[in-house]
Amino acid sequence: MLNIVIFGAPGSGKGTQSERIVEKFGLNHISTGEVLRTEIKNGTELGKTAEGYISQGQLIPDALMIDILASVLDHFKDSKGVIFDGFPRTTRQAEALKVMLNERGQDVSVMIDLDVPEEELMDRLIKRGQQTGRADDNEETIKKRLVVYQTQTAPLKDFYRNEGTYYHINGVGSMEEIFGKITEALEKVK
Ligand code: ATP
Ligand code: MG
Repeated sequence: MLNIVIFGAPGSGKGTQSERIVEKFGLNHISTGEVLRTEIKNGTELGKTAEGYISQGQLIPDALMIDILASVLDHFKDSKGVIFDGFPRTTRQAEALKVMLNERGQDVSVMIDLDVPEEELMDRLIKRGQQTGRADDNEETIKKRLVVYQTQTAPLKDFYRNEGTYYHINGVGSMEEIFGKITEALEKVK
């Protein structure tokens, strides 16, 4: 089993790189952001709840997010491994993920930290907002998301350093270049 946490600030390229990893390594992919956006599009109760938080640049409460993740994970019974994209985002989520995987006789194999400076993140997200119309990709909300990332999510780097699974990658460069570095990291843990 190759269980990967793909980590980084908003706009760091988690989704883009996840697609490539899926293609090359044949893993399942969970993007919690995508799960929530689908719920919003379908107008479900969960979607309505999520929309309030996302539009404010805030995180969905841990308890709710952990339940959602557990139910998605149950669909991946005979998987070669999973890429967790956008989860965990808090220490509580990281602890819950550890428990969920341990209960299944598994663990996080590697945490890949895509490191990108804030000015570059801001540029990328504003561009993405213009191209895709994604509602939370506007300057005001992006600023809030970056603060949330620094205060609530970035501390997870230490969590995974302690676990011995932390792997840093410079997330600035061409998509191919960055994917090359990720592949190198994954070949080592496979
Ligand atoms: P990227 O651009 O790298 O894909 P992102 O931060 O722009 O990252 P998503 O991961 O798609 O975007 O998440 C969008 C929003 O969904 C977050 O700002 C947050 O409100 C909510 N969300 C997603 N995952 C979680 C989570 N694990 N816990 C709480 N809220 C979450
Ligand atoms: Mg994404």
